[in-house]
Amino acid sequence: MIEYLQECLKIYSEYENYEPTFSEVMDILSKEYLDRLDLVKLLNVEDEKLIRFMAQKAKRLTEANFGKVILLYAPLYIANYCENGCLYCGFSCLKKYPREKLTFQEMQNEMKKMKDEGLDSIIILTGEDRTNSSFEYIKEACNLALKYFSEVSIEVYPLLEKEYEELSRLGVVGITIYQETYQKEDYEKLHLFGPKKDYEFRLYTPERALNAGFHEACVGPLLGLSNPKKDAYCAILHAEYLMNRFPKAEISISFPRFRDANVGFKPSYIVSDKEYIKFLLVSRIYLPRVGIVISTRERAALRDALMDICITKMSAGSKTTVGGYAVKKEDEHGQFEIDDARSVFEMVNTIAKKGLRAEFTNWVKGVGYELI
Ligand code: SF4
Repeated sequence: MIEYLQECLKIYSEYENYEPTFSEVMDILSKEYLDRLDLVKLLNVEDEKLIRFMAQKAKRLTEANFGKVILLYAPLYIANYCENGCLYCGFSCLKKYPREKLTFQEMQNEMKKMKDEGLDSIIILTGEDRTNSSFEYIKEACNLALKYFSEVSIEVYPLLEKEYEELSRLGVVGITIYQETYQKEDYEKLHLFGPKKDYEFRLYTPERALNAGFHEACVGPLLGLSNPKKDAYCAILHAEYLMNRFPKAEISISFPRFRDANVGFKPSYIVSDKEYIKFLLVSRIYLPRVGIVISTRERAALRDALMDICITKMSAGSKTTVGGYAVKKEDEHGQFEIDDARSVFEMVNTIAKKGLRAEFTNWVKGVGYELI
């Protein structure tokens, strides 16, 4: 993967500042299969008229490959202990505030509340701390979640392949893991200490999980930490690499933009709506079959505008605090601020008004298949 990325970055560097002509872009949009040079050129498009053409193509491809369906899910934060020094995160151990982890009874209270709201697909999250959120603790949380939900995924610290195998045998299907930035020099500056300093171990995490029997992986950068266009390019190629290597798996991509986490961190880059939208459109055009996820970090109007163009999966009714659904009343100390606070019910109605159908799982519990 590292060699592959380095190879791809040579094309990027050569054309980084090349803005394609109108007819060049229209030629690319008429192609069925795009190459990496086409990918760089599309990422360099600035003309808003061309971006509108890109949106039309993205919409056609999304409908052809996914139909008119949006999968809804929500995150469940079970612990916020973290032993890493990530400069940009509200859960970093550089930040002093009370650390919490849910008891198994509290987890069940949260799960019942989420289930009552209609959710059937959840992602279990912890900070990254093997002592306070041990593998056994995470495994038991997954075990409980599988009693309530058809689709259980994890977004926890990178595990060993044999640990992913255990979770896969239990019925956990998906992993989300953000590389934060694919630019190694910046990665090292942003991660001061802790296991997360190991760039390569993190980069190979989705492969370990998919090798171990997971069926879904979502990857991406945290936009703003490094050159966003370069990170979007690498993330799209990372997703492509995984799609080629694990053809039966469902690979998704997400481009969370940095949101203030009350840690006083100022990101190096501010990613505009125009740029963000372009990254999503280019992802769809270059990889028609990739899942595209948009979270509640983004505001409602933007999520609504994009949902029938390129999105396949959206979070709804999310809480980013430990115990945010049922255990605690006050919504404080989240990992980041959310912008779209609509309930699951409100999201379902909005999706219907857009002519789409909300789905709560794309997974039938107990029916699996072997990945090659
Ligand atoms: S980004 Fe993840 S690893 Fe880094 S401080 Fe936040 S929770 Fe910990």
